Amino acid sequence: MRVAVLNSGSSSIKYQVIEMSGPHVVASGMVERIGESEGRIVQHDRAGEGSQGRITTKCIPDHATGFALLLEGLADIGPPDAIGHRVVHGGEAFRQPARIDASVLETIRSQEPLAPLHNPANRIGIEAAMAACPGVPQVAVFDTAFHQTMPPEAYRYALPEELYTEHRIRRYGFHGTSHAYVSGCAAACLNRPVDDLNAIILHLGNGASAAAIRGGVSVDTSMGLTPLEGLVMGTRSGDVDPAVHAYLQRATGMRLADIDDLLNRRSGLKGLCGENDMRAIVERRAAGDERARLAFEVFCYRVRKYVGAYAAVLGRLDALVFTAGIGEHSPAVRAGIAGHLDALGIELDREANEKPGPMPADVSNPGSRVRILIVPTNEELEIARQTVACLAAGPGREST
Ligand code: ADP
Repeated sequence: MRVAVLNSGSSSIKYQVIEMSGPHVVASGMVERIGESEGRIVQHDRAGEGSQGRITTKCIPDHATGFALLLEGLADIGPPDAIGHRVVHGGEAFRQPARIDASVLETIRSQEPLAPLHNPANRIGIEAAMAACPGVPQVAVFDTAFHQTMPPEAYRYALPEELYTEHRIRRYGFHGTSHAYVSGCAAACLNRPVDDLNAIILHLGNGASAAAIRGGVSVDTSMGLTPLEGLVMGTRSGDVDPAVHAYLQRATGMRLADIDDLLNRRSGLKGLCGENDMRAIVERRAAGDERARLAFEVFCYRVRKYVGAYAAVLGRLDALVFTAGIGEHSPAVRAGIAGHLDALGIELDREANEKPGPMPADVSNPGSRVRILIVPTNEELEIARQTVACLAAGPGREST
């Protein structure tokens, strides 16, 4: 069975076609600059790492044209057997992936106020794919769904009740497909069934979030109503005093939209030291750059605080798991976090951390009570697997 995984943004469609019997990637690429005067189609025969791929430029006025061009490029491998769509926000309506029909599409549309930048683009991509491939079953997989198992004490803010009941203001969490995939791999590494896994997953990429996993399900996560809450990220502040908006507005006369932009695009690592690429920050820090040192320390300190909080939430902790660009590739950041947690039974093997060997890797001391794992994430494969599982479960498996 071949599953096409689609991730539609406002001006791009990224895709992978995965042969599930391997599983392996048979084609990947993206259509980008949709709506601009010159669009671009990049196609690879496989996952695309390290190769430039075939590049074509063409006017791509809309997603429907983009999707048609993408299918044209896939003509030699034939149409997929199923399509899995990444959808950012499922609100409280979706705890599971959902096979897409008119009512599911309408429910996805009703979540748009919660993710005004992402969900409309996701929906437009779904509509283009449905129109071009009417006979192919399609499934929506939501970034928020994995965290719908959080209990109310974790997901409610201490705000007047009507903000929740009327405006749906609560914590939702994101990166759910990554946390789900990595939980499964971590359980396999520890030879435990996933429903017996207690772990803290640290997804540290340009966007970053921590999740507390009890019995294989999410019981807390650091992102909230939006992906702004929680850890320090590439350009997002993570947690700040919520009064910062009112203070800035009073002190500088800034408009609310500019403050929102400041916290989402000009803060985080970039705000602290002028750049958001952790590789460069690690190098600058090693060369004695003070701003880079501070950015690194603030980043690691915030993660350590969340690890402490989630260790208290979980009680028993089997594994601390690093994933995503920084988590998988930065020994310095892993040491900055896990090298200071001995009091929690988390003891890093510093040599193994520098040279972890084949992935997934265990980089804890043999005597460490909690295993420290590095697990490469694979959100596309998780979406493909969830797509297959949703279709196998048959009709009736829907929202809720
Ligand atoms: P996203 O998917 O959120 O855009 P990724 O998971 O691809 O992000 O992670 C991107 C981040 O990973 C960047 O900050 C980049 O600097 C960092 N990164 C990648 N490789 C390394 C490395 N070898 N050392 C430190 N940071 C790295």
